[in-house]
Amino acid sequence: MKGNIIMPSQSAQHLYYLGQKYPLYIEVDSEIKKIIIKWDGNAFTCTSPVEGEIDISKAIQSFYKKESRKLIEKRLKEYQSHFKVKYRSFKIDDSNTKWGSCSSERHLTFHWKLILFPIEAIDYVVVHELCHLIHMNHDRSFWRLVGKVYPNYNEAMSIIGAEKTRDI
Ligand SMILES: [Zn+2]
Repeated sequence: MKGNIIMPSQSAQHLYYLGQKYPLYIEVDSEIKKIIIKWDGNAFTCTSPVEGEIDISKAIQSFYKKESRKLIEKRLKEYQSHFKVKYRSFKIDDSNTKWGSCSSERHLTFHWKLILFPIEAIDYVVVHELCHLIHMNHDRSFWRLVGKVYPNYNEAMSIIGAEKTRDI
C-alpha cells in the first residue's frame, strides 16, 4: 500500500452514504487479488489490483449491502423495544419495487439502497415494517402506530420518495 498515490477516479467521483455525498478515490495495489472499498468517515477509497478502466460497481454494491445489513440490524434492535411482537429474521436484497417488506411469517426485507439515504428515512422504513408485524395492511390503525413510534414519518417519507413508499 505504501507509495500509492490516491487519485480521483475518472468516472464515479462521488458516492452517497447516509444522505451525504463523499468523494471516491481510486488507487492501485498490484499485491491484492480483488477490489477493496474503504470508508474513512470523509471519503471512499477503492483499491484495485489493476490499473485502467475497471468496473467497481459490484464491489461498491457489496460494500453498501454489508453496511446496510449492519445498520439496519442496529436500528431494528432499537425500535423492536416498542413492539411486543418480534420479527423472525431480516435480509437485505435488491428488489426493484420495494424499500422494505414484511411477510406474514414475520420475515423482514430491506433494500440495500436505503444506506444512501439519511438515517431518518432508514428509521422510518424500519418502523414501517415493524408496524406490519401488528397491522398487515395500511389502514388507519397502521398509520396511527407508525406515528406513535416515529412521529416525523411524513418528513422521512418525503425524503425517500412517496412513489416507492406506497409499496412498502
Ligand atoms: Zn407497508
